[in-house]
Amino acid sequence: MRLLQGRPIAHGICASLKERVQAFFRRYNQPPTLALLRVGDDAASGIYLKNKVQRAEEVGICARVFAFPVQTSAAELIACIDLLNHDDATHGILVQLPLPAPLGAETIINAIAPAKDVDGLTTVTQGRLFRGEACLKPCTAQGILLLLKTVHADLTGQHVVILGRSLIVGRPTGLILLHEHCTITLAHSRSRDIAALCRQADIVIAAVGQPRFVTRAFVRPGATVIDVGITRETLSDGTQKVIGDVDFEDVASVAGVITPVPGGVGPMTVCCLMKNTIEAAENQMYGQETHAAV
Ligand code: NAP
Repeated sequence: MRLLQGRPIAHGICASLKERVQAFFRRYNQPPTLALLRVGDDAASGIYLKNKVQRAEEVGICARVFAFPVQTSAAELIACIDLLNHDDATHGILVQLPLPAPLGAETIINAIAPAKDVDGLTTVTQGRLFRGEACLKPCTAQGILLLLKTVHADLTGQHVVILGRSLIVGRPTGLILLHEHCTITLAHSRSRDIAALCRQADIVIAAVGQPRFVTRAFVRPGATVIDVGITRETLSDGTQKVIGDVDFEDVASVAGVITPVPGGVGPMTVCCLMKNTIEAAENQMYGQETHAAV
């Protein structure tokens, strides 16, 4: 069994991004800049946001956090996004999810200009992804692809069973792997006999948010298993532990390759956010240069 650690892979990618950021700075005399919008004070959201800011600083990206109180209205949030959309010094905009329920995440996300949609979640970006057009791809799905490429240089013809069909993880992962010529099965809460579906897979990707959902009964010997799930469990001593969707010890005894939680997909997601931010910044500045040259 091979343990597929995300941290060293993400670290290597971020090292090359750092050089790209330096080149950007030399050329445009400004850093790629990412605006992170947060509403409320959810503890887990705060941890994710802190990770993103820390990784941005390491790479040389300027991260600007906009923190709003929980009672902020959708109109106030959209007004801020609108300002950032028109600010030439802001290249990427991310709204930290989940948002408090009354805000309606979809409308707010769709207020982000597609050129600055570094999370890859607007309807325009996802439509482009659906059509196989160039776009800033959703970070977790992109991270999963980069992880898989270190194991399967050519993914053509691999049968991938994805557990979960969310717009953030399951569906975009399916589309990205479809563009890599994989055969995709998307399973969800209404699917029948998920274990039997998974046993047909060369690659199983678990993104259901149900701790230890995938056991050895789901895995064909030698298959690759990618665990996207993150659930925080409180232990008897009051400390918190992060649990994946895969029963790691059980599955590790049959899988050919398996990712850990934490330290598997998570670091790749943050790394791809940095990659998207630099890509967005380069595209916007290149667009301005070409516009000025005409
Ligand atoms: P989500 O929006 O809640 O979607 C969960 C999906 O799993 C849904 O499609 C749901 O089916 C399906 N599902 C739930 N219970 C199931 C069951 N018993 N059997 C079969 N399918 C079931 O969650 P998400 O945003 O996609 O996130 C999934 C997990 O990944 C969460 O633990 C989240 O914290 C984690 N995550 C990790 C990263 C990372 O970077 N590592 C990034 C994002 C999310 P229906 O559609 O039928 O309801």
